[in-house]
Amino acid sequence: AAKNGGRGMYRFYSAELKDVEQERQIMLDDLREAMENETLKLHYQPVVRTSDNSIVGFEALMRWEHPEKGNIPPNHFIPVAEDSDLINRLGEWAIRRACEDATAWPETVRIAVNVSAKQFANKTFVAGVTQALEATGLDPDRLELELTETVFVGDLETTEKTFAELKRIGVRLALDDFGTGYSSLSYLRSAPFDKLKVDKSFVDSCTQKDQNSAKIISAIIGLSNALGMDVTVEGVEAFDQFDLVCKKGAKYIQGWIYSKARPQAEILDEIANGGFKIKPSGPDQYRPERRSV
Ligand code: C2E
Ligand code: MG
Ligand code: MG
Ligand code: MG
Repeated sequence: AAKNGGRGMYRFYSAELKDVEQERQIMLDDLREAMENETLKLHYQPVVRTSDNSIVGFEALMRWEHPEKGNIPPNHFIPVAEDSDLINRLGEWAIRRACEDATAWPETVRIAVNVSAKQFANKTFVAGVTQALEATGLDPDRLELELTETVFVGDLETTEKTFAELKRIGVRLALDDFGTGYSSLSYLRSAPFDKLKVDKSFVDSCTQKDQNSAKIISAIIGLSNALGMDVTVEGVEAFDQFDLVCKKGAKYIQGWIYSKARPQAEILDEIANGGFKIKPSGPDQYRPERRSV
């Protein structure tokens, strides 16, 4: 289409594309540097058991404070890294660092790390996981890898082989963003997931008098129970959402109502202060006395 627009148009588009490509390259270079000089960090968001408000795990989430551009969110830089081989190094770095940090936590507390589909398909992925566990001494059962349905886009035989290898090592597998992709149910038939994570979008629409979202959350919880899997509801911010998902039977919640992701130093402080419990607290307009759970 660009070519049909005549010479001027073509130049316009290619100049723009060149800018985009240049920006991509700059970001990749900056990311490489950030990994080395530690301006790229992992923060940890608690996963909480609702029955007693105890922290059962944390999800590692990348945070990048760019020296000139400020905070760049993972939804911005992860896709760029995924378009290059850098995602493999970045992903390996995250698993290694998360395992290391988790060794300083109570043994009951798990660490969840996001794994991109491209990283999962990489030939050295399983070896990287094994190395991280061996180097840090973390119990494999304490490491949970969060995958999305996109891992099934690749060759099914290879995917299943990788699943089997990971199960043999003894790490846990979670299916992230559940319900947002395609034909999720057939994946559950054969894949060895230990946990489903209900996507935040269902929780978001829950409050807008959307009966269906609440019913879907309820059904996903029921499905997980039937299949013997854990389920975490993600992205709970407000008390009315909290009430509702608790009523639907959510045993584990991860969301701002408990805490945002925080640096390892703050988590260590908390451990030193003896507490691994956390209370739900939301914005002022959601009054705690309205809570029915
Ligand atoms: P995700 O794995 O689904 O992570 C959950 C996202 O929801 C995080 O966004 C978290 O901060 C956000 N969140 C949790 N609770 C709440 C809440 O109550 N309210 C709101 N508004 N947001 C909440 P974040 O940290 O921006 O990460 C976005 C995505 O980037 C992640 O989605 C994950 O797909 C990806 N990502 C982050 N770190 C890594 C990583 O180390 N490796 C890979 N491959 N992907 C990562
Ligand atoms: Mg995740
Ligand atoms: Mg998610
Ligand atoms: Mg996601």
